[in-house]
This record gives sequence, C-alpha cells and structure tokens, in this order.
Amino acid sequence: MIDLRSDTVTRPSADMLAAMTSAPLGDDVYGEDPTVNQLEETVADLLGHEAGLFTVTGSLANLLGVRALVPPGGEVLCESSAHIARAELGGHAAVNGVTTRTWTAPSGQIDLEQIRALIAPDLGPYFVVTSAVSVENTHNFGGGAIQHGYDALADELEARGLPLHLDGARLWNAAVATGRTPASYASRAAAASVCLSKGLGAPVGSVLVGSTELIREARVWRKRLGAGWRQAGVLAAAGLYALEHNVARLAEDQANARAIAQVLADAAPGSVKPDQVETNIVVADLAATGKTVAEVVESAKAEGVLIGGVGATQLRVVTHLDASAEDCRKAAAVLASILS
Ligand SMILES: *Cc1c(COP(=O)(O)O)cnc(C)c1O
Repeated sequence: MIDLRSDTVTRPSADMLAAMTSAPLGDDVYGEDPTVNQLEETVADLLGHEAGLFTVTGSLANLLGVRALVPPGGEVLCESSAHIARAELGGHAAVNGVTTRTWTAPSGQIDLEQIRALIAPDLGPYFVVTSAVSVENTHNFGGGAIQHGYDALADELEARGLPLHLDGARLWNAAVATGRTPASYASRAAAASVCLSKGLGAPVGSVLVGSTELIREARVWRKRLGAGWRQAGVLAAAGLYALEHNVARLAEDQANARAIAQVLADAAPGSVKPDQVETNIVVADLAATGKTVAEVVESAKAEGVLIGGVGATQLRVVTHLDASAEDCRKAAAVLASILS
C-alpha cells in the first residue's frame, strides 16, 4: 500500500528509534526530563519565543494556545476551514468556552478586508469581544497553502493590540518553500504551535511556544487537563532527531506533491491547479469529473493507494518522508487512470 492519506502515517526510522532509546530521561511533571527540556528550548529558539511546551498533539497545543489568548465567552476569528474550527471536535468551545467567527477565502487564505470587518473590539453590551485572530500556515484543507498575507495581518493586529495565534502544524513546510525562517513567522504570533508528528516523521508530539508567562499558564492547564508527562524524553528525542534531520528534506515532499498535481490536472482538467500546490498537500476537486469522493477513494484503495476525502467533492493527497518519489509517481498514475 502507498499511504498518502496524511503526513502523520510515517514510522520512526531506525536512527530515530536509536535516538529515542538512548535519550536521558526524568520526570517531566517535576520539570526534570532533560530531553523534554531540551526540545522545548530548541523549538522556542527556532520560533523566536521565550519558552515552549511539549504536548501530545497539535490539537492540545492549539487548545492551550487559544486558551491563553481568549477568555471564556470571548471569540477567536479564523478561516472557516481552519483546523481549530473544523477538525478539533469543538474543543475550543467544549473545553475553553471560546466561540469562533470565520471568514471564508480560497485556499484558506488570510483576507484582510473580511478580517477587519469581523473584528469586534468592544461594540457594546450585545456583542462578543474579539480576543484573537488565528491563522493556519500552511493551511491544511486549503491544500497546504502558504499564507501570503501573513505579515500584513501581523502588522495590522499589532497596531490594534490584538494577539495573533499561529496554528503552525506545518510551519516547517512554509519555511522550506519560501526560504524564510520559521521564526520570521512564529515570532509575530503571541502563541504558536508546531507539529513534530506530521512531515517531520516523529511518532508523537507538538510544541506550543510563547512568552515565559504564557507557557507557565499553559503548563498548568496541560496538567489540569490530564496531559502531564513523566519520562516523555523518549518521545521528545524523536522530535529533536526530526528537527535535525527531517526539515530540509521537506522540499522532496513538496516536489512530489507538485508532480502528483500535474498528473491529476492533466487527467482531470480543472480538478487542481498545479502552480497553486505550494507544499506537500494536494486537494483535488472532483466536481467536474462526475465521480464521487467515496468511489475514487475505494478504487484507489483496490489498486494499492490510500487517499482521503476532505469535503463533499474534495480529495486530499499528502506526501511525506515514507513515500518515495517512485511511490508518488505510481500513486499519481493510479489516480489519473481512475479520474480520466
Ligand atoms: C494535524 C493538524 C493539527 C493537530 O493535529 P493533531 O492530530 O491533534 O496532532 C493542527 N492544525 C493543523 C493545521 C493540522 O493539520
């Protein structure tokens, strides 16, 4: 099987496993796991922040990050297909007591005009107060799109004194694709999360970064939610290994995704615009093909290729370090024969 459902499906390599089994460990609830501490410091430095917090998932890092910026009853603005709005099972409402209002834009892009119109700093006794804006970079359901309006939004929010939350699950991809440093994005946000278990190939883990004070609070809430760690250095070691070895190579995944998009665009014209595939995710729209998502997913599976549906007419193909260029060529050929 060639599994292109997600970049989370990777297995730790032998070298990553060796790094995990030789990591120095301690009890992280006491702040005594040296490997966890090293990971948190490393990621905070890479992202231009004072402090970091290792979390079991990106959803937890987002939950803690948004919580730190938005009080219960407040709102965070985000794009309507953002992971925090669509794919965290309502956690921000159910756990944080936070509501969302959304803008909608092609590829999940920042739309400054819409955001300006949504921001409600203090409109009187009937209106929920906007406490933060959240941006996803790259944008998952937006087809791995890089947020090109990021700096302009950060400038605007800074001028208004409104904090920015960055869901940077795949910030590494944005950095590699643009040649920018991860810090050039993340340092503009008051709280930012990154995943180690997506394209970087670690089996588990995300990191939330922010000020020392914000992270101190988030650490209390992580424990309160039952997600304190003990000897989690075995997992943090995988993250450190991934940061050292698996960031620059994301360029290969991005080239593979672009090549897949080109094949799909030829087989099913209009389904995808290859020049808009900027990173490692291809979202293809089947509307014009007359085929359903379920049909295509099933046919692909029967031919040894796993992909996922992410909307009524949308398929998602995600490249990663356990799918070689040859695997991706084969998968693209299978999908092309199904679509045409
Ligand atoms: C995967 C992902 C997350 C976090 O997912 P977990 O499965 O909870 O680790 C957050 N944001 C985006 C954009 C993602 O793609």
